[in-house]
Amino acid sequence: MNKNIERFIRYAKIDTQADENTGTTPSTEKQKNLSRLLVEELKELGLEDAYMDEYGIVYAHLDGVGDVIGLNAHIDTALEVTDENVNPQIVEKWDGSDIKLNDLYTISLKEFPHMKGFIGKDLVITDGNTLLGADDKAGIAIIMGVLDYLKNNPSFKHHPLAIAFTVDEEIGEGPKHFSLEKMKADYAFTIDGGPINHIDCENFNAQQLRVKIDGVAVHPGEGKNTLINALQLQAEFINALPQKETPFYADEGYWHLTSVNGTSESVEFVAILRNFSRHKLEELDTRILQIRDQLSEKYPKAKIKVEISEQYENMKKYVEKDPRPVKRAEAALKKLGIEPIFARIKGGTDGATFSKMGLVTPNLGTGSGNHHGRFEYLVVQDFEKMIEIVLEIIRK
Ligand SMILES: [Zn+2]
Repeated sequence: MNKNIERFIRYAKIDTQADENTGTTPSTEKQKNLSRLLVEELKELGLEDAYMDEYGIVYAHLDGVGDVIGLNAHIDTALEVTDENVNPQIVEKWDGSDIKLNDLYTISLKEFPHMKGFIGKDLVITDGNTLLGADDKAGIAIIMGVLDYLKNNPSFKHHPLAIAFTVDEEIGEGPKHFSLEKMKADYAFTIDGGPINHIDCENFNAQQLRVKIDGVAVHPGEGKNTLINALQLQAEFINALPQKETPFYADEGYWHLTSVNGTSESVEFVAILRNFSRHKLEELDTRILQIRDQLSEKYPKAKIKVEISEQYENMKKYVEKDPRPVKRAEAALKKLGIEPIFARIKGGTDGATFSKMGLVTPNLGTGSGNHHGRFEYLVVQDFEKMIEIVLEIIRK
């Protein structure tokens, strides 16, 4: 096993799962275990100013010539499956046959046809009990692999680098305490994704919808002309939303109900609203407010409160305004004989918010996939290639 994969496995074994219910930064203290280790290793690699701030975010810099290029990956892992006792397995030269993770779970091409492209390559997978955490420890290991190469090849001329390892990306709080002053980069890349030929320059605009409905509760036997059932009103609200604009049908954007809590007297539901187009998202907002008004008119004794809050924004307009990072990534991929795909993320990245803050940050792949679950994998050769790609991007 080479030292870059070894490094990835070492990081994957450290539990850094985020938690959306603590309200602290980092959301889990254990994320700092990896932060501390990274500070030590960065110093060993010659980035002497490496440090962890009070939030667990790691910053470090390396001198060079030209624009300062930022590289970011996130320390935390997703919430869907546990990150405790990650036990990575290696499949050498995968022949495409079923991979039995354990008695309950198997990776098969039937289930994951996109993995056909990895036949003949080596895979790092889970033992079926945890996620792998290639999202985003593969990103961290790629950045560390690049720095290791630079240390061992002092004649390699490169741009100055600004490194940031952030916390709590998976709960959407990566940018919360991220500091442009501490980072000091001209533009940056998040390395937090899938295929290595992708340059992600676009993502969803994102809002959260919260609707609270208070009905009128009386004994149902005395309910005639009085009782207003909040649960039924909630169903009426949901049914009035455009039914073909849900993740099952829609590609460009959708509304997606995530929770309903309540009783016949009072209920609250939460949904996420997503669209590549800001205009379309606002049209949906208008429709939601119309539904509120129509139902309030129909049931004047009910109280319907609608709250729409912004989550993140499509980075497209920022990336277009400063095309330097995308141009560099495109040139690097082409030089290595890889045709780039300019992809759109049906989700968000920390980079979307960094871009809005003033640091344009498109996203690059890691060679991993099936994120947030037991079927997660890392393709060894693609991961290795990504280190070469990043070296090409920062080459002076
Ligand atoms: Zn990620």
